[in-house]
Amino acid sequence: MARVLIVDDSRTSRKILRGLLEEEGHEILGEATNGQEGYDKYAELRPDIVTMDITMPVLDGIAALKKIKDDFPDAKVVMITAAGQKTKIVEAVRNGATEFVAKPFDRDNLKSIIAKVAG
Ligand SMILES: [Mg+2]
Repeated sequence: MARVLIVDDSRTSRKILRGLLEEEGHEILGEATNGQEGYDKYAELRPDIVTMDITMPVLDGIAALKKIKDDFPDAKVVMITAAGQKTKIVEAVRNGATEFVAKPFDRDNLKSIIAKVAG
């Protein structure tokens, strides 16, 4: 069981992620709708794992990943990716992303990646 923070500007994505993670027995500590809020909630809640969307307003997922890893080097950040984001994925790897999950979500894939990261 992991304590998870969900960061995504899409209400639908947050709902799907929450549902799938709760089914697996994980605890959702909170949700954030942009990278800045994600950083603030990370600092406040100190979750085991963050799921981080890439395209978001205010501060995108890459910038939020950088901020979190700068201040909390041990943070486990799972990037949520969509088709056509290859450059962003490279940038996320360079900035310390722990893993990647592609949208649309596949239950088994999400399950195994979160289990692996929760270790
Ligand atoms: Mg988005």
